[in-house]
Amino acid sequence: MADGGGRVDGRDTPGGAAGGPLGRTDGDTPDGAAGDPPDGAAGDREEREVAGELGGFALARSEVDRASARRDDPDWIAAAWADGRSRVLVLDEGQALVRFGDGAAELVLVPPAQAPEGLKFLLGVDAAGTAYFGLVGPAGGLGAGPMPPPGTGMAPPAPGVRPAALRQVGPLLGDRDAGLLTHAVALANWHARHTHCPRCGALTAPAPAGHMRRCPVDGSEHFPRIDPAVIMLVTDDQDRCLLARNRLWPPRRVSILAGFVEAGESAEQTVAREVREETGITVSGIRYVGSQAWPMPQSLMLGFRAEAGSGQQIRVDNEEIAEARWLTRAELAAAVAAGELLLPPPVSIAHQIIQSWYGGPLPGTW
Ligand SMILES: [Zn+2]
Repeated sequence: MADGGGRVDGRDTPGGAAGGPLGRTDGDTPDGAAGDPPDGAAGDREEREVAGELGGFALARSEVDRASARRDDPDWIAAAWADGRSRVLVLDEGQALVRFGDGAAELVLVPPAQAPEGLKFLLGVDAAGTAYFGLVGPAGGLGAGPMPPPGTGMAPPAPGVRPAALRQVGPLLGDRDAGLLTHAVALANWHARHTHCPRCGALTAPAPAGHMRRCPVDGSEHFPRIDPAVIMLVTDDQDRCLLARNRLWPPRRVSILAGFVEAGESAEQTVAREVREETGITVSGIRYVGSQAWPMPQSLMLGFRAEAGSGQQIRVDNEEIAEARWLTRAELAAAVAAGELLLPPPVSIAHQIIQSWYGGPLPGTW
């Protein structure tokens, strides 16, 4: 697929505005800490180390420790929920309440006593000891106006409080809030789509911390599912970038190629296969550059660069990809300025990978 956010098999595809699939988040990795508050040089270094070669991805940020050791401690969770200093991120139909300011935004978090009834999960604990929970429930009564109609695009937000989805507001949030919202959306989407036991079909029940569901019939435990997907910027021997339009996208939208990792396949094998299947191009020099979760609903976008050498003819598959072409930086700038091409939005890993090749801020995004 071309990265950008089409839908394939019911999954939001990797990439662009629609974005890239993003997935299992950093907190589950052995690097643990997953978010000790970065302060000073040590924090900066850690941020770089967990950010991959490119780093700076809009949805790969965090400041809150996931406190995974607390997930198996129901007494601690109950005490944290009873603590008026704890804060709750309420998700209603996938949207959080957001306070928009001057070019930035922050989550509206409420004390547990003000939160509605609903499925809740522990998001973590910050350096000051504040516990954060996510909760899926009705946000009405928290002070915001009615929900805006779905698919309301990405118009510049006016100051004020209103509901917003991760893909709209992600790049505007600070590190703490971007991490909290990405984490909460991923868990909410998992719970919504994995309600029954895959072994026996019984309705499963969430564990107190909300990071696991257990089957009451056979006792099996089920954890959040992540779909790994690769997204890759392919260049030729003239350092031109390969951009493509998914067949399902409107005219002018382009992005780099992307695709889901198949069973029994390595990420690098997926990169080579997807590029070959979709454009007929054989690549080498496959190099990982960083990752970002894309929990819409459950992808992890693994970013790569790859090289195509010279003299290869593009042959699009006409199934997923409708058109593809090589572009120099000057050709890209001219095509965007002429209104011929639109590039993926800043929330996507595609945007940032293309930008790293382009060498400066990208014009003309979706
Ligand atoms: Zn079962």
